[in-house]
Amino acid sequence: MGHAPTIVWLRQDLRLADHPALAAADGPVVVAFVLDEDGPWKPGGASRWWLHHSLAALGADLTSRGGRLVLLKGSAEREIPQLARQVNADAVHWLRRWEPEERAREARMAEALRGLGVAPRDFPADLLFEPGTVRTKGGAPFQVFTPFWRCAMTLGPRPLPLPAPERIESPDCAELPLDELGLMPARPWWQGMAENWQPGEAGARRRLAEFLQSGLDSYAVMRDRPDHVGTSMLSPHLAFGEISPRQVWHAAQRHPEAAGLETFLKELGWREFSHHLLATNPDLPSKPLNPAFAAFPWADDPLGLRAWQRGMTGFPIIDAGMRQLWQTGWMHNRVRMIVGSFLVKDLLLPWQVGEAWFWDTLLDANTAANAASWQWIAGCGADAAPYFRVFNPVLQGEKFDPRGRYVRQWVPELAAMPDLTIHRPWEAPPHVLAQAGIRLGVTYPHPILDHGAARRRALNAYGQVKGG
Ligand code: FAD
Repeated sequence: MGHAPTIVWLRQDLRLADHPALAAADGPVVVAFVLDEDGPWKPGGASRWWLHHSLAALGADLTSRGGRLVLLKGSAEREIPQLARQVNADAVHWLRRWEPEERAREARMAEALRGLGVAPRDFPADLLFEPGTVRTKGGAPFQVFTPFWRCAMTLGPRPLPLPAPERIESPDCAELPLDELGLMPARPWWQGMAENWQPGEAGARRRLAEFLQSGLDSYAVMRDRPDHVGTSMLSPHLAFGEISPRQVWHAAQRHPEAAGLETFLKELGWREFSHHLLATNPDLPSKPLNPAFAAFPWADDPLGLRAWQRGMTGFPIIDAGMRQLWQTGWMHNRVRMIVGSFLVKDLLLPWQVGEAWFWDTLLDANTAANAASWQWIAGCGADAAPYFRVFNPVLQGEKFDPRGRYVRQWVPELAAMPDLTIHRPWEAPPHVLAQAGIRLGVTYPHPILDHGAARRRALNAYGQVKGG
């Protein structure tokens, strides 16, 4: 009794287990989430759907432990200090984030709280390695993934995850009902999402358990196959912080016999690396790391962009990926690379345009991973894919979706195509197309470009940058 409450300010850390800011709060706790739509990187439509359900799950979980989730709307640096005054809090805790605008917000928040005599306390971000802790011998940040990860692996075991508090005592205060946050889209387009995902901490744990049991062993061989569920599909859960990378890390380590363990941990390493890059390069989301690319002769092609976004390019693997993204909020990593290469190399559109579309449609949209990956694809980032590597969408499709299963699932108008030509319907003889019920240009588009010519145009453009 008499203990002043602590506010735990949540952002993309919507969980109770392994939450250092929550675990460090003793006495009464006000767990608060502010829907703050200021700033350039607002949550996209798909993410808003997820957020709604994740908050609902978290609220129910807190209630079952005696507490409550306080929802607010507006500018966080106004709402949280106001809440602190209202409940007489003596401290506000949060987990650090590395997006530049979030860092700026944290600084403003800390100042506002100090002005009220409330202590701001931040805790390590949702990463295995805090930016700044993985450095070259000379103390510089790494620019290339492999030595970064090799160095990280020498830094000793990661701390064990913290348990969720069993009971939480929360004082009364003014709050908004979840529906008033207005996160659910007006049009009910989310059916595909609801069938594929269970937002929230319990859904994240279930997904992890399923993957460790049936996916980890074959991960190294199956992770490149979009026609199978060969990856963990944990990314939206990680993006919303419903599970921490430490929880995933330690749970995976409990399967030392699994052949895919090391490869899987390394993928978590890419998530780390992209955050480290963002921490040292705050312009990562908007400016090429390689300054020569500032002068790149990008094309302007609104029709091409529209065809790409809608999955109507006439290249089956591209269309399958873009439609999977649209319908489920997720796309297989291999296909992200293929559609990304198509956008920046075949269509010669700026990578920031792809980044923005992914931001709006991906459930796992994450500033660091999205920006670093797009820069990698465009060839202008750290450790970038060489610019002369232009993926051939037909050969990529045939290699990674050899029976066309993935294409058939997401581009149903091609379902009756034989395996041999499913990735190149324009080369199929007329009777094969007729038998499959396809009229090119009517039921499925002709390819919007000639890949050979597009490749030459891209190499030419890239040559200008390299040469300049
Ligand atoms: P798994 O293969 O099971 O990997 C486990 C976890 O490791 C993932 O959940 C993710 O957190 C992390 N991870 C794996 N690969 C990468 C990577 N290359 N970079 C960073 N983290 C990685 N990932 C995002 O989380 N958010 C994004 O906004 C995002 N944008 C991308 C944009 C492009 C153009 C590309 C090529 C990749 C992008 N990725 C992004 C990385 C990757 O595609 C996804 O993390 C992965 O497909 C998620 O599926 P999964 O959870 O089954 O991955």
